[in-house]
Amino acid sequence: MINACIEAFVDLQGWLLAHLLQPVLLATGMGSYLEMAFDGIEFFLCGVLQITVAFLLLRPLEALRPIEVWPDRKAVRVDVLYSFLDRLGIIPLLIFALLAPLFADLERWLRFNDIIPPQLEDWFPMLEARPLLSFLVYLCILDFTEYWRHRLSHTFRWWWALHAIHHSQRQMTLWTDSRNHLLDDLVGGCWFAIVALLVGVPPGHFIGLLIVVKTIENLSHVNARLSFGRIGELLLVSPRYHRWHHAIDLPAGRQYRFGCNFAILLPIWDQLFGTQYRGQTMPPCGLRQGPLPESAARSGFWQQQWEGLCALAATFLPENNHGEERQRQSQ
Ligand SMILES: [Zn+2]
Ligand SMILES: [Zn+2]
Repeated sequence: MINACIEAFVDLQGWLLAHLLQPVLLATGMGSYLEMAFDGIEFFLCGVLQITVAFLLLRPLEALRPIEVWPDRKAVRVDVLYSFLDRLGIIPLLIFALLAPLFADLERWLRFNDIIPPQLEDWFPMLEARPLLSFLVYLCILDFTEYWRHRLSHTFRWWWALHAIHHSQRQMTLWTDSRNHLLDDLVGGCWFAIVALLVGVPPGHFIGLLIVVKTIENLSHVNARLSFGRIGELLLVSPRYHRWHHAIDLPAGRQYRFGCNFAILLPIWDQLFGTQYRGQTMPPCGLRQGPLPESAARSGFWQQQWEGLCALAATFLPENNHGEERQRQSQ
């Protein structure tokens, strides 16, 4: 059954390449990009699959057990647009196009100077023969680095100005996961590329990792009354756990001055680094004030991008440079 599905997937990938992209690439003299186009189609099809699975599993949950019911769901629409741009590869393609030459140069320079970054399999050769274990180890490493990326995006004022777009949504749903400023996506892409260069994520794992991570991220934003219980919430980020990360009023305590519950998949990082908050309720989400105008909760895609840029520029103005913390902004 699984083999038949994989075969059908590869057939479709080949058909799309042969009938859609290949004629265009050959006609425009870009035949050398055929292999890249083949990988791009795989990314696109996986995105379609991931978004379909997330929608079919999570949308009924939102309808059956909503935390909040809104008579007007207009503010949700922009998050749906963000999700399609992100999952179907338009934003990742943009980021890839910008970063690929940069990282190709960096790799060439490293090779030229005989600096070969050690790969995980070099340290732990046993992983080579155990693909599932290797997949899980990579998942943990990437999740650990993502915890720090996310935490730092709340700590540095310039980064928070961009990341605040993600937090400005007051009607949080499964679609909110992809609501990010394009520059925030670009910085995140750089971060991920550096980590991948250092630990050497094998290409075969890459798509699998993305599908797992993205589906859990959709789940953690779902507007559904759902918790994983006391034990489950220690193991995996639940909608209630991540909702506290989006809470309009953060819990009291100096350790939460930039926010709480930064983990993407594994709450253990919050526990280890003192940023965990195990709230039992489902708080309202959004930003009470700054760094974005209040309209960011309802504005459209381009308006939000502009508002994020203005907030970013404002952080470089001397009169604003007094080290606000999110705790102070939200109280
Ligand atoms: Zn955040
Ligand atoms: Zn979030």
